[in-house]
Amino acid sequence: MQVLIVGSGYSGTLVANRVAKKVKDAEITVINPRPDFVERVRLHQQIAGTYSAATPLAEVLREGIRTRVGTADKIGDGAIALTDGARIDFDYAFLAVGSTVVPMPGTVPVGSWEGAQQARAALADLPAGGQVTVIGGGPTGIETAAEIAEARPDVRVRLVGSSVGGGLSEGAYGRVRSGLERLTVEIVDDEVAEIGSGAGQFDGSVRLRSGSELASDLTLWAIVSGVPDLAARSGLAVDARGRAVVDEFLRSVSDERIFAVGDCAAVPGARFACYTALPQGIHAADNFARLRKGRKPKPHSLPYFTRGFSLGRKDAVAQFTHADDTVRRIYLAGRPAVALKEMVTHSAFATARAGVSSF
Ligand SMILES: Cc1cc2nc3c(=O)[nH]c(=O)nc-3n(C[C@H](O)[C@H](O)[C@H](O)COP(=O)(O)OP(=O)(O)OC[C@H]3O[C@@H](n4cnc5c(N)ncnc54)[C@H](O)[C@@H]3O)c2cc1C
Repeated sequence: MQVLIVGSGYSGTLVANRVAKKVKDAEITVINPRPDFVERVRLHQQIAGTYSAATPLAEVLREGIRTRVGTADKIGDGAIALTDGARIDFDYAFLAVGSTVVPMPGTVPVGSWEGAQQARAALADLPAGGQVTVIGGGPTGIETAAEIAEARPDVRVRLVGSSVGGGLSEGAYGRVRSGLERLTVEIVDDEVAEIGSGAGQFDGSVRLRSGSELASDLTLWAIVSGVPDLAARSGLAVDARGRAVVDEFLRSVSDERIFAVGDCAAVPGARFACYTALPQGIHAADNFARLRKGRKPKPHSLPYFTRGFSLGRKDAVAQFTHADDTVRRIYLAGRPAVALKEMVTHSAFATARAGVSSF
């Protein structure tokens, strides 16, 4: 029985390892654009040079799992077409292609491996006194600005977003912002209207909705907004954000042979997070194993409890939430939050690699 897994990030890698453990007659192939597993939650560290976020897939996938380096172009009718022209048949497939960053021209995207590599090289080349502008006031932007400010105290770092740290409790909001300010990150609460271009070339300037213009030597786009259009292009049912619509067992409502997990799955109430992707991967793999044994699949549900933000290596904020992900008043900051965030980040990698939860 051929099982294809499209995307070897957190959820895809976990599914591959768990299915290999639980379904002995499964011949598993993982399709991924590169031969490495990328710890996406550490891409801001990759950019700042404080961590190496790629590990060869051979070191994270169980023995016997095949790897096909490539990009899926279409999925359906029991086969996957790759962009290089190949076609691979499957009995069951798992869609685990994550989410995307669509940068404004003239900026470097944070959130993809290729973008992070480009940003890392550009930052390394930036001389002392250079100006870095990070666009995006959500978790990715906050973590990226803080990491760079701590690792490169010789450059100036500015963070631009319509509401930097918005959506947190009052206390956590204030603590995120004071943590950024301690690292001398300039916070600009405004939206970007345009990236300046003169004589057909991007000149690095950032124009804001308020009308002001900011000079910048390196501009990073840190807004994770959509998902790859693979599901939509393949004719699977998708929601308004392009995520594959799934039933309560995490199977595509268009094709029961296809499970969808992680950022690319339209699970009601789910936010883009490895904290979401990993439990979904566990659940989908287990449902698949149940079905293979002639048992009934179980409905998926996930209670949230926290959202973590690193502020460099020595500071962090952990915002506690209700099960439905709405924020509570309580939060942790400083060393205890650093320890919690590092434990979760480390466990995410360990869980994907082991195929069993290490939370
Ligand atoms: C800087 C940063 C910090 C973050 N911090 C946190 C955090 O602290 N906590 C948290 O919970 N979340 C965090 N996140 C979010 C988290 O990284 C994602 O939600 C998580 O990686 C989603 O896992 P996934 O398995 O759905 O997809 P991913 O881990 O993104 O993996 C998707 C894989 O599919 C591949 N792929 C894409 N298209 C195709 C295709 N057509 N064919 C084949 N393969 C394809 C991709 O290249 C990738 O390898 C952070 C994200 C960023 C960018």
